[in-house]
Amino acid sequence: MEADLLQRMARRRDVIADAVATYGTPSFVYFADDVASRIAGLREVFEARFAVSFAVKSNPNPALLRWLRGRVETLDVSSSGELQTALDCGWPAQRLTFTGPAKRSAELRFAVGVSVGAVVVESLLEARVLSSEAEERGLSQRILVRVAPARVPKGFGVNMSGRPTQFGIDEEDLEPVLAEIAELPGLRLEGFHCYSGTQCLDPFALADNFSIFCDLFARMATTSGIKAKTLIFGTGFGIPYHAGTRSIDLEELREAMVPIVERLQQDPALAGATPVLETGRFLVGEAGVYVTRVLYKKHSRGAVIGICDGGMNHHLGACGHLGSVIHRNYPIFKVASSSPDGEVRPYELVGPLCTTIDTLGHGVELPGLDVNDLIGIACSGAYGPTASPSGFISHPPACELWVEDSDSGPTVRDISQHVASRGNEEQING
Ligand SMILES: *Cc1c(COP(=O)(O)O)cnc(C)c1O
Repeated sequence: MEADLLQRMARRRDVIADAVATYGTPSFVYFADDVASRIAGLREVFEARFAVSFAVKSNPNPALLRWLRGRVETLDVSSSGELQTALDCGWPAQRLTFTGPAKRSAELRFAVGVSVGAVVVESLLEARVLSSEAEERGLSQRILVRVAPARVPKGFGVNMSGRPTQFGIDEEDLEPVLAEIAELPGLRLEGFHCYSGTQCLDPFALADNFSIFCDLFARMATTSGIKAKTLIFGTGFGIPYHAGTRSIDLEELREAMVPIVERLQQDPALAGATPVLETGRFLVGEAGVYVTRVLYKKHSRGAVIGICDGGMNHHLGACGHLGSVIHRNYPIFKVASSSPDGEVRPYELVGPLCTTIDTLGHGVELPGLDVNDLIGIACSGAYGPTASPSGFISHPPACELWVEDSDSGPTVRDISQHVASRGNEEQING
């Protein structure tokens, strides 16, 4: 278990308990200060030489997107829905990039119409559709071309490279595709994009991956004969979801990235471009905790099961169904107990759904467990409510709460996107 992370969360037990006493469970509680310190950490590691872009799909909560204005340079959106949300949150279209493998022509039209900063083109066919949408309006759309590398270094948790992929243009095909894109009248190629793996905690593997990106970016710049303005590095920075892992050591990361920073200044094909760190979970993941209440305690064939008021319906990832092959527990702790702590023993923690796959934790070591205990699941600030099957079995949505420190102590705000539809649940909670 990640000791630092759990200690940080343990210090916040009272704040979390107070927040859910007011707004109820299940809730996602996000700590603004943690996001701020992550951004500051990235600036320090990369000596402020990289811009920072937040991948909206990891947490599209509008209050977060508004808070990020002026704190990160750009947002990356992956649908016209996310694009609209970002605009509604006051983000200038110029500061948005639009990625995604299946952009419909209506979405591309919308993006061109609002003058999105850049469309990240994922295929030649998409480039053609986008070009004609732009040309019809007499416009020229700025694009970045996304490349799909043949490999990522060893040590990446999630690896999208070296196999057939819907994301980006295979590096094997770059030359002819770039030549054809250069001929398309509605497009203006301004740079390149790469994101080929994630959930990596090893600074040196991350730096090796950036080095692969640099090689590809340099090759693309040379092939297309452009002076790139923007180079987007999909960082792949991970967070410590599981026992035996810890947060990326930022000092080590700084050391590992020195050659990359130097190369970006010195390589004639790359110097002059703005490098961008595109990241989601690293900025917000550790800043969030999911809090659920034990409704029932059940003894069954030697196991003790805590049945909670929320589970997979809000938090697919914690139940192991967001791409993991085997279920490993997220860091789980008790926020508040309804009875004094007892002997530590393993518990099964399950959610409210009528399926065995709704399991938040297997064999979770806790100092006792009782009805009404509050359970906290750390590392829950990314890929939570909007990445979960919240419609399945029609339980109410989770609250989302935003905690910001002020001189008079922490303030808590309900930033749920579903406040209006929670009426009947409040009646039930009575
Ligand atoms: C999802 C995504 C990200 C963010 O991934 P994390 O693992 O959350 O950092 C970045 N870039 C693109 C293109 C993505 O699709």
